[in-house]
Amino acid sequence: MKTRLNCPCGEYIRGADEDELVRETRRHLAAHHPDHDYTREEILFIAY
Ligand SMILES: [Zn+2]
Repeated sequence: MKTRLNCPCGEYIRGADEDELVRETRRHLAAHHPDHDYTREEILFIAY
């Protein structure tokens, strides 16, 4: 299960599970990259 993600901007995001990681990543994107909208699959593709 993937629970961590390094955003290209340098932000380190992690969640207890994939659902939380996707939620947290979307929250970060909305706050810092409002012009980027990624699907769950795209988020998990760059997660590890
Ligand atoms: Zn970022």
